[in-house]
Amino acid sequence: MVIVMKLDSSPEQIENVNQRLQKHGFQMQTIHGVKRIVIGAVGDLESINISTLETMPGVEKVVRIMKPYKMVSREARGEDTVVQAGNVRIGGNKLAIIAGPCAVETEEQLYAAARAVKKSGATALRGGTYKPRTSPYSFQGLEEEGLRLLAAAGAETGLATVTEVIDAESMHTAEHYVDILQIGARNMQNFQLLRLAGQAKKPILLKRGLSATIEEWLMAAEYIVSSGNENVILCERGIRTFETSTRNTLDLSAVALVKTLTHLPVIADPSHATGKRELVASMSRAAVAAGADGLIIEVHPDPSAALCDGPQSLNPEEFDALMNTMRPLAAAMGRGI
Ligand code: PEP
Ligand code: MN
Repeated sequence: MVIVMKLDSSPEQIENVNQRLQKHGFQMQTIHGVKRIVIGAVGDLESINISTLETMPGVEKVVRIMKPYKMVSREARGEDTVVQAGNVRIGGNKLAIIAGPCAVETEEQLYAAARAVKKSGATALRGGTYKPRTSPYSFQGLEEEGLRLLAAAGAETGLATVTEVIDAESMHTAEHYVDILQIGARNMQNFQLLRLAGQAKKPILLKRGLSATIEEWLMAAEYIVSSGNENVILCERGIRTFETSTRNTLDLSAVALVKTLTHLPVIADPSHATGKRELVASMSRAAVAAGADGLIIEVHPDPSAALCDGPQSLNPEEFDALMNTMRPLAAAMGRGI
């Protein structure tokens, strides 16, 4: 169950609730969010009288949750979570459009991408600097030098920044440079990394694993939130299926379903889902129509020269054209960009 404490509840009241739960054999985790304080408690619900728990000073409400994920579930929180990352809000009324190259390659490449996506109306800049590549012989990223460039390009354009982290070291380094830390599909069940993400001071963009079920994906988010970081953005990026014509299969029913299961914002990545630039625009629009809170799209100033994921990257003109079709669609969905 989840015990939602009043925002003005005192440390003593929280301690009293924790002690009561402990006496009944529960294991607890307290999250001090900006908007609320929540105690997640796992144990035998038959052993405790929930209505007396509800009358304890400082307690706002007690919610019984049968799902394996608790804190990220809709039951724990009715209203949508809006994640504030730098100057961008993800979730809520406005669509978040994160765009930029798969990898930071050079200063010229990154600045050209950053200026172009900003001009077309993107809200955040993506750029990988620690790349989890399938082949050890592929470009692995510029690491900290890339982070410096990303931070500078973000500062110049006013765009919030997103980069992937792959281990404790990259997480601790990236935390100083960017606004959002991405955990990629290949690390979605790296539980040690998820726990560390729970202690990070920056929001986490959690991609769905290559073959992860929705429940496994939400359990991964639960790791982060229960470890102390409630600023999690989920990202559907396509899953492995029998189909080989596209790089992955974009699971848009997951976007619609996950919005009902969790209060966390959900975005979609049509670039990695399809692997084909000619499908990115249509799948972007489909994702927004399915209720996605935003998109993450790969854009490169010269996709044919990209060191990573060129075939799925849009050039600046293609991205601009996509953004122009996105505005009326967003409006039809009752949202802005
Ligand atoms: C990426 O965003 O560059 C990336 C590697 O994504 P994924 O983890 O979804 O494959
Ligand atoms: Mn990529």
